[in-house]
Amino acid sequence: MSASRRDIGDGRAASRSASTNAKPRPKSSARAPARGSSNRSNAARVPHLPDLSQYGRLAEYRAKRRFDVTPEPPPAMPGSRGARPLAFVVQKHRAGHLHYDFRLEHEGVMLSWAVPKGPAPDPSVKRLAMQTEPHPLDYNLFEGVIPEGEYGGGTVMIWDRGTWKPESDDVDRALARGDLKFRLHGKKLRGSWVLVRTRDRTWLLIKHRDEFASTEDLTVTKPLSVVSRRTLAGIARAAGASARQLEQAAGADPPRPARGAATAAEPAPSRLARAARPR
Ligand code: MN
Repeated sequence: MSASRRDIGDGRAASRSASTNAKPRPKSSARAPARGSSNRSNAARVPHLPDLSQYGRLAEYRAKRRFDVTPEPPPAMPGSRGARPLAFVVQKHRAGHLHYDFRLEHEGVMLSWAVPKGPAPDPSVKRLAMQTEPHPLDYNLFEGVIPEGEYGGGTVMIWDRGTWKPESDDVDRALARGDLKFRLHGKKLRGSWVLVRTRDRTWLLIKHRDEFASTEDLTVTKPLSVVSRRTLAGIARAAGASARQLEQAAGADPPRPARGAATAAEPAPSRLARAARPR
């Protein structure tokens, strides 16, 4: 992978241009010189680069799944994204182990990291983030149950979502260097963060110090889906999960405050008070 990283600067410029217009660009030869310190292979690379790279980056995602069995979306060719801001999503996923899948949109796919303990807004806390295969953009809408025995089998919740902005000026270079700074505009996660690679696929997700830094444990104080307000158990139940999956999902929800209804979908009114309590 690192051998090809050298070319990513040019590749990114090419696909960014392409992303404003999904059709082939007839004037590419006229624009190439303006871009180019190294115009040596641009002509050969530009016409086919966007399509092949999209297939390639979702090949691992595709290979791991049976789309006639799992409700997860199959890979789709992304269309033009125009001026839409970049998406981010965090999916709480009780598979073999509980983790939070942290995904950032980049060049038509969702770059993905599995964060076992979930993101922490406390700048003194470094959260392990294992890089996983890029996912399709459609995956951002997935909340439900992956069947027993399938890859990642278990319950998935859309725990947070919103938009993100790189703070590193060249995302590909930052990823290659293993140091990506960015801002999140989500419902739960906000402000400036960094992903730092320690080795191979192992990264750390760390909050920067800013007005959104806090010692609140968001996985406990804000445990519900941002799209359906359901608990993980509620999602599992609605999707007809197996008894074992339902039990695992319920075990991954934080303990409920002492109050009646087991099926209430609204957060407890005392949530803010509990959040403010020192821990
Ligand atoms: Mn996962």
